[in-house]
Amino acid sequence: MVYDVVIGLEVHAELKTQTKCFCSCKNEYSKVPNSNCCPVCVGLPGALPILNKYAVEQTIKAGLALGFEINNTAIFERKNYFYPDLAKAYQISQLEKPICINGHLRVGEKDIPINRIHLEEDAGKLIHEGNQTFIDYNRGGVPLIELVTDALKEPHIETADEAIEFLTKLRQIYIYAGVSDCELEKGQMRADVNISLKPKGSKEFGTKVEMKNIMGFKSIHKAIEYEIARQKEILDDGGEVEQETRKWDFEKGESYTLRTKENAEDYRYFPDPDLLAVKISNEDIERIKSTLPIMPGELKEKYVNEYNLSENDADIILAEKEITDLYNECVKLYFQPKTVANWFITEILARIKGGAKLDISKENIVWLIKAVDERKIQRNSAKDLLSFVWGTNLSAEEEAKKQGLLADLSDDFVVEVLNKVLEEKAQVVEQYKREQDPKILNFLVGQVMKETRGKASAQLVMEKLKEKIE
Ligand SMILES: [Zn+2]
Repeated sequence: MVYDVVIGLEVHAELKTQTKCFCSCKNEYSKVPNSNCCPVCVGLPGALPILNKYAVEQTIKAGLALGFEINNTAIFERKNYFYPDLAKAYQISQLEKPICINGHLRVGEKDIPINRIHLEEDAGKLIHEGNQTFIDYNRGGVPLIELVTDALKEPHIETADEAIEFLTKLRQIYIYAGVSDCELEKGQMRADVNISLKPKGSKEFGTKVEMKNIMGFKSIHKAIEYEIARQKEILDDGGEVEQETRKWDFEKGESYTLRTKENAEDYRYFPDPDLLAVKISNEDIERIKSTLPIMPGELKEKYVNEYNLSENDADIILAEKEITDLYNECVKLYFQPKTVANWFITEILARIKGGAKLDISKENIVWLIKAVDERKIQRNSAKDLLSFVWGTNLSAEEEAKKQGLLADLSDDFVVEVLNKVLEEKAQVVEQYKREQDPKILNFLVGQVMKETRGKASAQLVMEKLKEKIE
């Protein structure tokens, strides 16, 4: 049978703030367990939470970057559950009145509706060693934003590929907006995925199965494909899918039941009496909006329409914000966006793919590109220089001088030498005219380079040579 697949995503991202959500403990990774903790974030009786205003602003910023409406009043609620990673036995979260509502994100041709983004606190971490379990509350109380797509509305995310595109774009937007670093390997961005199947065209939704806290986009992709296949098989056999929460085992590449509907959690949400409702004025919203940088979608339009980059090249440059920022800086210094983009893709990104850390100044990049354009230096020498100054404080220009790489000959002089070579090698020129063999041109260029001891620009010589002969 043919089915429609409906995929919902709940994405958690750790906010970039100095301090935790409801206390003044540092929001930073620490190797020493329980070193960034205080009575509030380990839930000692009598300790009262104080809301971090900046965390609220960061949540609003995330919402604005995704076109959300911002609620003028937001409320914090207690989500109750017993688990040792949760010191207070409840998590401060939001249910009825989250900060952001009704957003959307474009995936291919679809505008995927997003229900909400709310602010909540993260839980601590359990560390299992042998038959002992330790607890580290450093992460407890760190501000998290949770985004929930609206799978009840059309259009849906329907495939693992679309889900990954959604997550990739979301991550890019969060990083651009500066609300989260979204480092996947550090678990700064994690997703819960729910999946249901229904007969093609049916209005009624199928039974939803949820998979919690999957880390890494590859695992998410695999987990989704696995679950779609699992449900399809059950339905094809005439069975019924059970409503449950499953855990993805990334080592085995399969999932298993975590809990079923019968023992589903009842979180007994209620407004947190220790926290006042948050009032967000339209002025606040406007002020935060004005701090948003230009987003990747807008930049892509600019790259393609104004800079004439191909969509593919634009995507490559936009993939990492660090690269995009450096590219923009370089274009500001030398307005040849296409040439600069080519250098970024062939030289700079290639080095990064090879494992190098981005460590080169915009001045050096621009000097090298310009020097090649102005025929002051040969392209191969420029590439070598790029490697030479990469990761150092050396100036490419100074090094080019020191290493004698600058073509310090005037165009006129080069033409003079060229004329001399053409006279001496008149027979070779005749041979070229008959055979049109490019090897002969290269030979002639080589002769000029020899005469000038390699100080002429080979590109210039080739250009002038073609002018003369053709
Ligand atoms: Zn604390």
